[in-house]
Amino acid sequence: MSWNELVEHLKEIEILDGVGATLGWDEQTYMPKKAAGLRGAQMALLSRLAHERRTDARIGRWLEGLDTNDPVQRACARNLGRVYRREQRVPASLVDKLARARSDGFHAWIEAKGASGWQRFLPALRTLRDLTLERARAIDPHRHPYEVLLEEYDPGTTVESLRAMFARLRDGLVPLIEAIATRPQLPSIEDTVPLEAQWRLSTAVASSLGFDFDGGRLDRSEHPFSTGQGEGDVRITAHLSERDLLGGLGGTIHETGHALYEQGLPFDLAGTTVKEAASYGLHESQSRFWENYVGRSRPFAIFLARTAQEVLGAGAPAAMRDADAIFRAQNRVERSLIRTQADEVTYNLHVIVRFEIELALFEDRLALEDVPEAWNEKYQRYLGITPPDTARGALQDVHWSGGAFGYFPSYTLGNLYAASLGKTMEAQIPSLWSDAEKGDFSRPLAWLRERVHRTGHLHETPEIVKNAVGERDHVEDLLGYLWQRVGTLYGVTR
Ligand SMILES: [Zn+2]
Repeated sequence: MSWNELVEHLKEIEILDGVGATLGWDEQTYMPKKAAGLRGAQMALLSRLAHERRTDARIGRWLEGLDTNDPVQRACARNLGRVYRREQRVPASLVDKLARARSDGFHAWIEAKGASGWQRFLPALRTLRDLTLERARAIDPHRHPYEVLLEEYDPGTTVESLRAMFARLRDGLVPLIEAIATRPQLPSIEDTVPLEAQWRLSTAVASSLGFDFDGGRLDRSEHPFSTGQGEGDVRITAHLSERDLLGGLGGTIHETGHALYEQGLPFDLAGTTVKEAASYGLHESQSRFWENYVGRSRPFAIFLARTAQEVLGAGAPAAMRDADAIFRAQNRVERSLIRTQADEVTYNLHVIVRFEIELALFEDRLALEDVPEAWNEKYQRYLGITPPDTARGALQDVHWSGGAFGYFPSYTLGNLYAASLGKTMEAQIPSLWSDAEKGDFSRPLAWLRERVHRTGHLHETPEIVKNAVGERDHVEDLLGYLWQRVGTLYGVTR
């Protein structure tokens, strides 16, 4: 009885969230400039309505009445219980203080980044770190505060497992990057391709990968993103630029990967919390699997060369008609300062630097004023480069200014899971690569649908991944695959 009431209640929250997602999507795509004020008021009301429902006093009673012998209700007790505890245990005064600190933090960060001054950001960051620590302790004083933060993005993952995996990954990547740096650089593709032609190519590729255009949209925006409003409505955007066809297309493939996950969720379980994606890391594994594991493979380059010729016709640059040129350009490795522009190999070191610094901050091993120095020292040691200023160093990401500590690991967790999913598929789907060459991606998609997408949030991510791939060493899977694919292209061996 109470279960049905709870499900109806949660369905309403999902609907409100979906409406908010539609408004947010519109804001970044088609909304007229002058509607900004109105949209702000609309979003504020929506989030207030959703918040009222999330903190409804009946939820505690409903949670107690769940039948934990039923797998869906048991998962709901875990998922909803976690959110409810957070809402209950964090005092309203702290919530207010944090909201103000985030807004102050964002402005301080903008100014600090513009003037390249850590000192400008320091007081706001200190407040954010202290309040975030206080919040983590309020939620659970017995657990590692960083794990409590991590749980918001990747529930089920422990600090200790991250510490161990990331250290091994770091130690395996540094020699690969050093070896690559001694070799001649691979050529990139920088031909100018009209945006309209790129748009047709992006649409064709998303469609080949299995994106359902009757249950979603592809539009353009300043930053590519994906958003799932619910059943039958999953939207992605592309950001294209004339001289970076592969970069824009890679973004579209990435968002398509997120969207395929959202389109495959168990919608029959709406209102149970099990319909949701299980974690940021798992979501990211879906985008990275398609963007990197598939999208940077040689068979995909063959498919892409053919598709570019079909779609772009005579306007296709010579390099885009050459699968080998595409394959080389897709796997170019370059030591660079900015995480969001990093290639697949160096990317994880950018994340590991941030993880190590965050963890040190929450274990009181690093003073906030020393972050830029620690940052530069790690960049030099892992990537062989030193940022010339903090704007391109410790101030480059927005995350900390919003108090989003514990978010970064999800990106690399996604790469680790994607590698194990890929390795397992290679063993279980013999035609994986010959199909990819033909532009047929239905088997890997069906594989993911069955083992990942339809599971929703019935289990926690480490268990979902284990059920899908068995006992695998994710670090070894990722290192092995990068050495094999990229190392071979550069002529280096492990
Ligand atoms: Zn993503």
